[in-house]
Amino acid sequence: MKRIKITLLLSVISLLLQAQVTIKPAPQSGFEERIRNHIEAQKVVDTHEHLMNPIGITKSGMYDFTLLFHHYADDDIKSSGMSKTTFNKLLTDSLTVLEKWKIMEPYWDKSFNTAYNRVVSLTAEKLYGVNEINEKTVVELSEKIQEAYKTDWFHTVLKDKCNIKFVINDSGDRSFGDKSMFRYTKRFGYFGIDSRDEIDKISKNRNSKISSLNDLVETLTSEFEEALKNDFLTVKVGVAYSRILYFEDVEEERASEVFNTIYTHPNKTYTFEEVKTLSDYMMHRIVELAKKHNKPVQIHTGLQAGDGNYIENSNPTHLTNLFLKYRDVNFILFHGAYPFGSELASLAKNFRNVYIDMCWLYIISPSYSERYLHEWLETVPANKIMGFGGDYHNVDNLKM
Ligand SMILES: [Zn+2]
Repeated sequence: MKRIKITLLLSVISLLLQAQVTIKPAPQSGFEERIRNHIEAQKVVDTHEHLMNPIGITKSGMYDFTLLFHHYADDDIKSSGMSKTTFNKLLTDSLTVLEKWKIMEPYWDKSFNTAYNRVVSLTAEKLYGVNEINEKTVVELSEKIQEAYKTDWFHTVLKDKCNIKFVINDSGDRSFGDKSMFRYTKRFGYFGIDSRDEIDKISKNRNSKISSLNDLVETLTSEFEEALKNDFLTVKVGVAYSRILYFEDVEEERASEVFNTIYTHPNKTYTFEEVKTLSDYMMHRIVELAKKHNKPVQIHTGLQAGDGNYIENSNPTHLTNLFLKYRDVNFILFHGAYPFGSELASLAKNFRNVYIDMCWLYIISPSYSERYLHEWLETVPANKIMGFGGDYHNVDNLKM
């Protein structure tokens, strides 16, 4: 009897689950193509890139096939075993294309499988018609890249190949590109003050005298207001590379004490633990300014690029106190918080002011993106999920 009851219960649960999942009968055949065509016809807002001046690229040591490895693929080349020094040689030394490939090849063979490196293969294929990267094709691929950059390649890729409406570029250089296609994000560097040197650097850069916490906050405020005149769309916080994302709401007095200690000991460098209070305090001032001027705050969460970091520092749940305190500030959490996808879902569901941004995510892992997009669409309002952004230095890799 007990077994029958359990079987019945399981059948009911299974029916209920099916009722949730089967919403409509399957559409007419060919729907995959119709969806693809619809998506390809859409204009894309690209929420995050670090696009470099294309003229700078043509003058650099990566003006050949290695351009496509810069960046991200280089992380996996190094992760497979190549030393940083050897990789830097590829970018700076005057090696021939074939010599570069000879150094790269064994590491490419070990890491061709990753999504970072699949982007390189797909870009070579789709943009340059080179179906496989190998000893026989690297020269041809390099020549094709150099030919392309003699034309207005930058805009051809953005406009014609990728159908991008505009890009939010995370770069200090605004001197290039069709202005109508660019918006900018702005970073404020007040998180890493661990020595008098750092204070003096800010002082010098901003041309302001800083000898107290109050001066530091005033300098930040003037930098923020000046940046507003220059027009920026969002505030960017990328500090998950160097510290935990928990920003304690500290009293001015405590932050001031830390500032004074640093200020009065010119030859000392403090540990992060010793100066965290000041870093936390400055984050709250930045968010207050974002609130005052109605700017969304984009925050790097999840995987840090490069080799070697503390993934636990970048867990988006560390930010919860900010979401609670600044209900009127929109926080955009980058990179699908890889690998904290479900934590991200909970936050974006729970807080009206928290958004998901999938930039870079599908380059890290297409299957994670797909898996979590299912989960996010089940849990988070669709208006709070942003889909596109390569986080790349070059435009080429956007078309993979
Ligand atoms: Zn980025």
